[in-house]
Amino acid sequence: MKISDICKLVEDFASSAYQESYDNARLICGNPQAEVLGVLITLDCTEEVIEEAVEKGCNLVIAHHPIVFKGLKSLTGANYVERTVIKAIQKNVAIYAVHTNLDNVYYGVSHNLATRLGLQNVRILQPKAHTLEKLVVFCPLSHSLQVREALHAAGAGQIGNYKNCSFRSKGLGTFQPNEQANPFIGQAGGGLEEVEEERIEVIYPAHLQAQVLAAMRAAHPYEEVAYYVHRLENYNQEVGSGAIGELENALPPVDFLQYVKNKLPVSVIRYTHTHKTQIRRVAVCGGSGAFLIHTARRQGADAYITADVKYHEFFDAEGEMMLLDIGHYESEVHTKELIYAYLSSKIRNIALCISEISTNPINYF
Ligand SMILES: [Zn+2]
Ligand SMILES: [Zn+2]
Repeated sequence: MKISDICKLVEDFASSAYQESYDNARLICGNPQAEVLGVLITLDCTEEVIEEAVEKGCNLVIAHHPIVFKGLKSLTGANYVERTVIKAIQKNVAIYAVHTNLDNVYYGVSHNLATRLGLQNVRILQPKAHTLEKLVVFCPLSHSLQVREALHAAGAGQIGNYKNCSFRSKGLGTFQPNEQANPFIGQAGGGLEEVEEERIEVIYPAHLQAQVLAAMRAAHPYEEVAYYVHRLENYNQEVGSGAIGELENALPPVDFLQYVKNKLPVSVIRYTHTHKTQIRRVAVCGGSGAFLIHTARRQGADAYITADVKYHEFFDAEGEMMLLDIGHYESEVHTKELIYAYLSSKIRNIALCISEISTNPINYF
């Protein structure tokens, strides 16, 4: 397998189309055509991680956090970012980052955190809008099944736990071919044709548009296919930030703190008091999730677990909800296992390793 094949596999799970605009989730260095010898999975890519990759015989590091985030104007080794990239290039180790795209997919970082906490009925805390499109295509009855099958194979019509979803209605299509036409029905320069057609409607993730339209054109018998593409306002329940679910058994706040410590590798929790006596509904967001405090409250969370909360942001919980800051590293370190579990279900003959280095720069005294 080539490095590009592994990147493609990761993007099948967490499309790069779902990364935030400020992000840099991609192959950061390395030759995409190089053969993969082994893969090392880490939360952060540091010089020590590159050394670990070399020791373990891995020439691809998959990291959650992109080592190059803002762009590099020089490569002189002046800081840890430049030194890490230089070392990676010298040692022939490629670096690939799957970042906010992995935060934003349903089975991503926050779902994984929710699962580790034993939450049930997990939903996305803040679903994203404008990630779905609808295709309407008109097709003669004879080829309707063929066109629908091609659309579904290209990824259209998947909604939640349902696949092959479409809507069809019958009607009459009319057209008149000119002298240059090569019509499927009727003749060039012929008269007005009237054909019984089906209007087929399917929904698909917007980033699949090119492949869905290509599949439609390939399967459709007409020279000129009549179709519309609509960008939908709908919120996509499978793409967005954070996760929310319920504990099987509600816990008093103090017991909940201990519960979190038992479930996650956390030694210190910064938290706010709540006037609620029982914690049942819990929202989570791996990494810097203070931007979801209001959303978590609005969704009726009794507790919200995230990281990087600032002093004034703690006040925003207003006693309505327990706000827990467990640390950025602690809230995302399990992402290594998430990537490992996914890739090991797809790859058989390449060594996959989880980095044993704690890259957390923060210590607690
Ligand atoms: Zn993250
Ligand atoms: Zn993070």
